Amino acid sequence: MKNLWKYISGESKIALTMKQVVLYITIVMACIHTLLFILFLYFSVYMMAVVNTVSISLYAGCFIWLRLEKSPYVVFNLCYIEVIIHAMLATFAVGSSCGFLLYMVCMVPIAYYAAYSFRDSKHFVNPVIYVFTTMLAFVISKCAAWVTDPVYNIGNSFFRDIVYIINYMLVVITIVAFMSTFLIQIRTLEELMTRKNQKLEILSTQDALTGLSNRRSINERYKDIAKSNEAYSVILGDIDDFKHVNDTYGHSCGDSVLKSVADIFKESVRAGDIVCRWGGEEILVMLPKCNKDTAAQIAERIADGIREILIISPGGEEIKVTMTFGVAGSDEGTDIKDIIKEADNRLYYGKGHGKNCVIKEDLLTGTGIEPPI
Ligand code: GH3
Ligand code: MG
Ligand code: MG
Repeated sequence: MKNLWKYISGESKIALTMKQVVLYITIVMACIHTLLFILFLYFSVYMMAVVNTVSISLYAGCFIWLRLEKSPYVVFNLCYIEVIIHAMLATFAVGSSCGFLLYMVCMVPIAYYAAYSFRDSKHFVNPVIYVFTTMLAFVISKCAAWVTDPVYNIGNSFFRDIVYIINYMLVVITIVAFMSTFLIQIRTLEELMTRKNQKLEILSTQDALTGLSNRRSINERYKDIAKSNEAYSVILGDIDDFKHVNDTYGHSCGDSVLKSVADIFKESVRAGDIVCRWGGEEILVMLPKCNKDTAAQIAERIADGIREILIISPGGEEIKVTMTFGVAGSDEGTDIKDIIKEADNRLYYGKGHGKNCVIKEDLLTGTGIEPPI
């Protein structure tokens, strides 16, 4: 009962496929026609009892057709045609006051639902054609009811009212069932899209190999840091002799080294710091609210962590990893790009002077020399 309530209020998470919907339609329609068959038989409307027998057989056939994994499109159309013909014949047999023409109203939302549900299949469903056919059938039935008397002149108004109420209820239930199915399908699709978009966003901002931010994604963030009036620093690191690692132990071994190096960076920084894969095996760290000396200490800590990385090559050899760093602070330039350039120059200097070191001063000008480690 709780599940039914959730379903009709559109809150269920179970989105039915068109095939399941059509399968349920055949079962429900067979039940409805059995009920009508009993009713017509009871009130001696034999023509409609026969029509309902044919309808029940049709739905049984459709059920078997669907169980054989055949197209629900055929069944949907057969159901649509059956409902229209049944409504016309019932109006012809017992008059329009029994409410069989009401079914033609509920066919309108169903046509639009079908157009939505069959959108991915090769079948073309134009709801306007379905709606137009239904309207035409309605007008023909109504006109026929004006000019001819019903075949069965049932004087019993109780019968007419009971059948009208049943028909009205069934029409409303059908509309509710289709609309809630529609609502659930759209909600499910929306949730799926949101999840996919979130995944795509992560993929577009992250480097797939290392899980670090990629260069493109940090553009906005580093501009924000640079705009604030607080001091910030930049560390730029490059793995030493990485080509040698690739050439000697293979590219996948090089990838493992890169991943381990990235992990050391992630562990060594604070939550608000940005760690980004700047180039092939170059990693940039932006440290907001951090002066250059502290940044250099952090770089030393990272360098220590990297020296301790233990990676064994496929041939069983221990691979030694070291990295050279350039550090620069916001007081050394006005533009963030200049400060990164400064860190890059220092990194370049470190590469030319033994590697495996942290350079935080402009050694080329001869001021504040920091001996390489
Ligand atoms: P240096 O000490 O001067 O930095 O020498 P190096 O050999 O590390 O030289 P460089 O920094 O120019 O080399 C970068 C190498 O990194 C070249 C490229 O093949 C490799 N590389 C870049 N991206 C990847 C990657 O994603 N995986 C692997 N395995 N190698 C990469
Ligand atoms: Mg390198
Ligand atoms: Mg490099």
